[in-house]
Amino acid sequence: VKVENIRNFSIIAHVDHGKSTLADRLLEVTGAKKKNSGKNQVLDALEVEQERGITVKANAVSLLYKHEEETYLLNLIDTPGHVDFANEVCRSLSASGGVILLVDANHGVQAQTIANYHLAVGKNLKIVPVLNKIDLKHANPEQVEQDLFSLFDILPEDVLRVSAKLGIGIDSVFEHIIKKIPPPESCRDEAFRAHLFDSWYDKYRGALNLMFIKDGEVKLGQEIVSCESKKIYIVKSLSLLTPEEKNVKKLIAGQIGLIGMNMRNSKEAVIGDTYHLKGSPTEPLEVFKKLRPMIFAGIYPSEQSQHVALRGAIEKLVLNDSVVTFAPETSPALGHGFRLGFLGLLHLEVFVQRLQQEYQAEPIITAPSVTYKIKLKNMKNILKQHGGKEIISVSNPKFLPEPNHVEEYFEPTVLGTIITPSEYIGKIISLCIEKRGIQKSSINLDENRIMMTYQLPLSEVVVDFHDHIKSLSSGFASFDFEEKEYVSTNLVKLEILLNGVPVEELSNIVHARNAETFAKDLVGRLKELIPRQMVMIAIQGVVGGKVLARETIRAYRKDVTQWLYGGDVTRRMKLLKQQSEGKKKMRSIANVNVPRDTFIRVLKRF
Ligand code: GDP
Ligand code: MG
Repeated sequence: VKVENIRNFSIIAHVDHGKSTLADRLLEVTGAKKKNSGKNQVLDALEVEQERGITVKANAVSLLYKHEEETYLLNLIDTPGHVDFANEVCRSLSASGGVILLVDANHGVQAQTIANYHLAVGKNLKIVPVLNKIDLKHANPEQVEQDLFSLFDILPEDVLRVSAKLGIGIDSVFEHIIKKIPPPESCRDEAFRAHLFDSWYDKYRGALNLMFIKDGEVKLGQEIVSCESKKIYIVKSLSLLTPEEKNVKKLIAGQIGLIGMNMRNSKEAVIGDTYHLKGSPTEPLEVFKKLRPMIFAGIYPSEQSQHVALRGAIEKLVLNDSVVTFAPETSPALGHGFRLGFLGLLHLEVFVQRLQQEYQAEPIITAPSVTYKIKLKNMKNILKQHGGKEIISVSNPKFLPEPNHVEEYFEPTVLGTIITPSEYIGKIISLCIEKRGIQKSSINLDENRIMMTYQLPLSEVVVDFHDHIKSLSSGFASFDFEEKEYVSTNLVKLEILLNGVPVEELSNIVHARNAETFAKDLVGRLKELIPRQMVMIAIQGVVGGKVLARETIRAYRKDVTQWLYGGDVTRRMKLLKQQSEGKKKMRSIANVNVPRDTFIRVLKRF
């Protein structure tokens, strides 16, 4: 295929607007996926993605499409919509010449539609606006077109109307991709230059790197060099994703392909790196802005003997999720573990689930926290205790200095954008006030929808703010945010005690004003989450030695298997086995078994 006949594009949209379903239809038309194969969202290959029905990784696929006697190579990238996976969208856009901006004709423009639109415009990408779900009874394409016009100056006549589910209007999508999106500015006669934009770990072949071949070509056995590290690698395998891997002998400019090479350490694959042939150096291509993690949590092996295995699993998974940061950390209660940084709670949850499903790891997760800045009292002995610096960063409750060492606390804030139908405005404003938000603006988007911006503490939004807004508005309001400055605040460390023993992974840095409400809420939820056991369990929430909340879980009175009165031995054995398997997921503290991921569960209310 000629370079002029290549199109690289991403599908971007708010969560659930139908990106993965549209990708399915595009795959079917081009024969890459069989119709009625029974499989949906085929690009969502990960177990977590199928289970949760969301895309967490951007996925690339190469399609051949015939149009007016010409054959086109379409490289499609399906992206996640949830704000926690914004990094995946950024990476995908850097390999694209244009985007399909998909909007649900029923729900209309949402917060991530706006965020994604601005990302694409910022990269000068051509935008193909498409309304999806026009088959729905309440679809209102005219209204959505008006919104697209008033928000982004998109003309209604440029907007396509499709139903990805029923396969209506799919041909027009292909036509617009070919007509509107420019071919890559690639040159086959120039020296080889490729952009690494994703990589993952394969058990047999090691690190596999997904690259956009900008110029020239690369063949099996050639030596290629990383601009970032200057390291030299031998090309071991080359393939196209169709979506199955198809081995090829060479990759040429304009293609997106998978390159297997002798990479030993997963840290060597740097997202955004440029590769060239040995002996013909080139300028690196665009380097992209790295997003910074917003929340941090400790991840510890349930048994110290698993430490090395856990590290291996984390390293491999980080290769596939480059925003995640990790560093070793030690705790008196939990032993040797790691501190990892994520973009949000869902991101953390998905990462942990992948550790379990793809690497059979069973780690203990500590309460996630944002990074606070703390100005210490300017006294020699105090500064010395904290490493000599006057301002320190803390994301681990363990390191929160004693109150009498602190001059001032600072916490990170964000500017949040909320779009909601006007009927929910009261509830949403109350929620923002409860979460210590300050309204910055409010405008009418159209007759019945309002767009507001709020400055909010990051700690209040990373956890479940988005889900809370969804549940208050029956799913109709949406939320997105960007980082803002640190502001002065007042913090305390809330500790959770089980039968008098502090549980390190459950301690938390909280705003002083909310400490009591938070403690009561947390202790109440722990009471529901910790299973009844042979001993009585006292749960206490304590700040600075003062008990703010307390609950008790009564002990079992009888052996759980007793009601089976001896009759059925196999059932009795089965029940005991189930119990002991359940226990594996537990960690024992002061003779109390606590689920290893208690904190994630505590935080998930919706
Ligand atoms: P994504 O999060 O943007 O990738 O969205 P998905 O492709 O996973 O789709 C979200 C939900 O919308 C799924 O339940 C789809 O079946 C449904 N959906 C997608 N396209 C259409 C459509 O054209 N019409 C209707 N009625 N439902 C659709
Ligand atoms: Mg999807």
